[in-house]
Amino acid sequence: MKTDIDRLLRDFLGARTAKTFAEVLGIETVGELLRHYPRRYLKKGELTPFDELEVGDQATVSGRVKKVTVRDLDKKMEIKLDDVQKYRRRKTLTKVIVTDGRNDLELAFFNQPWLATKLLPGTAALFWGEVTKFRDILQLKTPGTEILDEDDLTEAEIERRAKPFRPLYPASAKLPTATIERSLKIVLDNLEELDDPIPELILRKEKLLGLGEALRRIHLPETEQDWLAAQKRFRFEEALVMQTILAQRRAVTDALNAVPRKRTSGGLLDDFDTRLPFELTAGQTEVCEEIFADLAREHPMHRLLQGEVGSGKTVVALRAMLSVVDAGGQAVLLAPTEVLATQHHKTLTKMLGDLAEQGMLGGADRATRVGLLTGSLGAAARRTAMLDAASGAAGIMVGTHALLEDKVQFADLGLVVVDEQHRFGVEQRAALSQKSGDNTPHVLVMTATPIPRTVAMTVFGDLAVSTLTELPAGRSPISSSVVPAAEKPAWLERAWQRIREEVAKGHQVYVVCPRIGDEVKNAADEEAEFAQMEEDNGGKPGRKELRPPLSVVFMAEKLAEILAGLRMEVLHGRLPADVKDSVMTRFAAGEIDVLIATTVIEVGVDVPNASTMVVMDADRFGISQLHQLRGRVGRGKVPGLCLLVTDSWPVSKSRQRLDAVAGTTDGFELSRIDLESRREGDVLGVAQSGRRSSLKLLSVLRDEDIIYTARHVATSIVSVDSELTGYPVLRSVVRSALETESTEYLEKT
Ligand code: ADP
Ligand code: MG
Repeated sequence: MKTDIDRLLRDFLGARTAKTFAEVLGIETVGELLRHYPRRYLKKGELTPFDELEVGDQATVSGRVKKVTVRDLDKKMEIKLDDVQKYRRRKTLTKVIVTDGRNDLELAFFNQPWLATKLLPGTAALFWGEVTKFRDILQLKTPGTEILDEDDLTEAEIERRAKPFRPLYPASAKLPTATIERSLKIVLDNLEELDDPIPELILRKEKLLGLGEALRRIHLPETEQDWLAAQKRFRFEEALVMQTILAQRRAVTDALNAVPRKRTSGGLLDDFDTRLPFELTAGQTEVCEEIFADLAREHPMHRLLQGEVGSGKTVVALRAMLSVVDAGGQAVLLAPTEVLATQHHKTLTKMLGDLAEQGMLGGADRATRVGLLTGSLGAAARRTAMLDAASGAAGIMVGTHALLEDKVQFADLGLVVVDEQHRFGVEQRAALSQKSGDNTPHVLVMTATPIPRTVAMTVFGDLAVSTLTELPAGRSPISSSVVPAAEKPAWLERAWQRIREEVAKGHQVYVVCPRIGDEVKNAADEEAEFAQMEEDNGGKPGRKELRPPLSVVFMAEKLAEILAGLRMEVLHGRLPADVKDSVMTRFAAGEIDVLIATTVIEVGVDVPNASTMVVMDADRFGISQLHQLRGRVGRGKVPGLCLLVTDSWPVSKSRQRLDAVAGTTDGFELSRIDLESRREGDVLGVAQSGRRSSLKLLSVLRDEDIIYTARHVATSIVSVDSELTGYPVLRSVVRSALETESTEYLEKT
């Protein structure tokens, strides 16, 4: 399907402009430019609200100049505006304060003093560039500028600016929104009839604009209605492409064969159930039944189990694994890290007791073995584990990705349980499938990050979802507070005191840092570096956001003084596996009071005696991550306390996020806030870095209806024409979406 949209931009725009598009936006073809949609529309005379700007945005704003000053940076003095022409060759800083009517934004121009004569107070102009922050004031550094009420303009320019709306594009100083707008007009004026990936019938049924019409209206709108209708059409198109891919994938999975593993009674599972020291919650029982039903089918189960930290997913997984073992198969439990794999292995072995002691003195009659295989295992232990897997002696194997290596064989792999899905991709799943011959193992994916329904339908569109909504009874509540260390140093003092009190009561404490740190550099050096940075930034509170995040290495040295006398250890990913293991074991045994760690402790670590967690630079973590982290405390009878230490500015977005975390323990609510505060690309796990995502307008949170409809349409198309033979345009768009990295979000399950 070669259409005009595959033509190169330079055929239309001239080599230089085309080169800039390629360099700045990675746009080379007409089609790519046409899909570079405006981020918003500027009504004539309207000012863009500044409070929506975020550090790191490539923003175009319109504002009115409030104040202009020019400084001579060598002589460190202010220059009179009448004199600026004399300063052309000097080092100068022109500062312009612009307002949107409510908030101010600072613009900093280096060595362009003459701008001061153009940007006089009262002037309205467009400015574009990257949003930065300096001394807590939002700034655009050396932005591009277009004065809106200039008088010596070309006719075309006057016409363009006279439009009721102007599209504002994601742009940069090198490629202003006006250039993009002009280029699009040229391209659109020269464009021929386009093939539409949305079938004619669907367009009519859903009352959507055709492709050519929609492109004109989104780029050159005359009315608000124009772009709203166009956006709706493109959202639908994005949803349709995504849902078609997922429908095809479901069709493939549905066609796979699996060995049915029917639940049998009188086996390990029943033995295990009679020994459980607690009652299963209603939710756990229900989810287990769903899983048993799936396992009994001739097609592979493909299920996501979501449940809050501490909701008891492990028991559910273990019961599923035991039922597969009873049916003659083997099960694998995959963990994201070695620490976790080791811990899971211990937990399962402990929960099973003599049921896991097959072939050993004192083992139960009907016992199996739980093997452990991680990358750092010694050669002998490794050989034993591999033999147990291959012979079938181990009904259950626990491990990290090392389990996916070619050399590891299974006698009869029936079920794969994956803990924490977000670190497990499609390739890994494929690798495991190959281990069970013609049949595909059943797969259960577990996650503690609650996922809103539409996200589950998109990111995890080919998974069935089970949810554990309640926590087992008798859980102690966690209370959380924000500790604003920059404004209230005394609160931080109090936090350290609190640690001592908890330890005195026999409890244990985590101190979590965002970074491991540099072993070579000692705390004193690092502190000096921070001090220097603060000085460079004018020594105001809030400036600390600019320093590197606090590290485990640094905090360990600080706390050695502050909490002298307590038993402290560090834990992070750079330590050798045996050291990590020994630290975890001693912490679990209560031989360590304070564990200073990175997020290695994020998932699964279970030490009921740990009562308190102090998160340093908490603003550097995501909402869901903080929620997960604090799930490590309050797991036993001891009430949990989580202190979120931050230097972030009280009114900042990061502080709001922390307040949200401190304000509720409802994981679904937090997950929603988290997703809303991120950009769509992040929601879907696409790396930011300016890479083009195939979801540009569709929001998996907001566009629930569109996604439902598109899913329905896609499913019916694929069910009768899985190769899309009758839909050549859609097929080629789907194919190219699959070819680009931009659909990485689809690979996350
Ligand atoms: P997660 O969902 O975070 O993986 P776990 O499976 O680790 O949660 O369970 C947390 C703790 O709760 C474990 O110590 C587990 O033994 C316990 N637990 C699980 N189910 C129940 C239950 N129904 N009643 C009481 N305690 C339970
Ligand atoms: Mg768990």
